[in-house]
Amino acid sequence: MLKCLGEMRALSLLNILVFASILATTLSSCRVSNSDGKLEEYKETRPYFGTYFTVRCLYDKNLTDIQATMAECWQMLDDVQLNMNAASPMGYLTRINRSQPDAGSDVNDDLYRIIQDSVEFSRKAEGAFDITVRPLVELWKQAVKENVVPKKEDLEIALEKIGSDFIRLGPGNRVALMKPGMKLDLNAIAPAFAVDRAAEILTRNRIEHFMVDGSGEIYCKGNQPGERGWRVGVQDPTKKPDENVIDILSLKNYGVSTSGNYERFYTINGKRYSHIIDPRTGQPANGVISATVIAPTAEEANAFSTALCVLGSEKGIALIESIRGVEALVMEDRNGKAVISQTQNYPVFRVSR
Ligand code: AMP
Ligand code: MG
Repeated sequence: MLKCLGEMRALSLLNILVFASILATTLSSCRVSNSDGKLEEYKETRPYFGTYFTVRCLYDKNLTDIQATMAECWQMLDDVQLNMNAASPMGYLTRINRSQPDAGSDVNDDLYRIIQDSVEFSRKAEGAFDITVRPLVELWKQAVKENVVPKKEDLEIALEKIGSDFIRLGPGNRVALMKPGMKLDLNAIAPAFAVDRAAEILTRNRIEHFMVDGSGEIYCKGNQPGERGWRVGVQDPTKKPDENVIDILSLKNYGVSTSGNYERFYTINGKRYSHIIDPRTGQPANGVISATVIAPTAEEANAFSTALCVLGSEKGIALIESIRGVEALVMEDRNGKAVISQTQNYPVFRVSR
């Protein structure tokens, strides 16, 4: 879990109750003068993806029309929320999921781009992150309704439909799923994609210092007043909200994402199962309590933080060490004890511990 320091905000579904009480004030925007009188500070939060999306920035009012810039951000978020959600009947993603294997479907530029990126992340993450996981997600959701874990035969049928290698990306933004019954699920990565798109919009509108925060995935550019970058707190989900910041990071021109097996889960017959599924076995991930990844984009950070929940700390840290510009911290449950592992250069981003 990530915490934008100095602020109370939604960090996960667990914390939404805490956040709800201050919703009335944070949902409105605020504008104050910065100390040098030149840059103004702006912050706005709106609900998206079942959680909250916040933009904080310092801008020059002679260069940037902040209202028009923010309107562009929210418009993009509306679009992402509609078109990248497998559960929204009108979106492009649903059209792909309903298309015939040989025909496919034409999609907008953003959806084409996120699918292209996801296929690449899946390859890098050795299949631990895979947007073709949808048939397994649906199977586990059905299992929750029936309160009994999926049958072996049903898992085998769903596993037949998994694999990013069977996504065909054609000219004219055409996407085809080559196996019958294949479906895509962008829930893991769409909010992070939106964080990066918002960062592009702010940059194009000449804003140089900002933090875009999709509750769990963040991108920081430039710095907050008096700092080298933006301070982001990494939380220990096993501790109480007031005393759970285990790490403070300072980030400048980096994305960061935390995924956790504690955050959202399925309960079947009284037992908790992670909402992150191992696409290779069909079983919910277990062992990792939380994984935090720092990367050049929030999207990449998020793909790998999800993958690390599947891979576990040993394989996960080895994988991240092999990818330049990406760092990670993993908290794993070993016989009831929380054990922390990190990549060699992760501490470079740390302010204090
Ligand atoms: P996140 O909390 O960002 O890790 O995203 C988790 C969501 O992504 C789940 O609720 C599923 O809809 C989907 N998902 C589950 N397992 C995977 C996986 N291994 N790769 C990609 N997406 C997944
Ligand atoms: Mg995510």
